[in-house]
Amino acid sequence: MTKMKRIYGLTKMKRIYDFLCPDGHVVEKYIEIDTTIIPCEICNQEAIRVVSFAGPCLDPISGDFPSATLRWARGRQAKIKAERKVAEA
Ligand SMILES: [Zn+2]
Repeated sequence: MTKMKRIYGLTKMKRIYDFLCPDGHVVEKYIEIDTTIIPCEICNQEAIRVVSFAGPCLDPISGDFPSATLRWARGRQAKIKAERKVAEA
């Protein structure tokens, strides 16, 4: 995981994610987008990132291909963020 952070060091993006551990604890973390597992703050087991389907990228019209749409939306979001970063620089 530390290696990943180094690779994305320049364009490291953070978001708020929910993490769910095997005991059902939900931990909310503001964390790098490439982090998918963190230790649970309550029981110290591995908490896995919960993919949130709520958000502006949800398109009900393309419901026939939800996974493809989601993949596209994710790529598009990353692109928008990258472009925004460039614009700000
Ligand atoms: Zn836990």
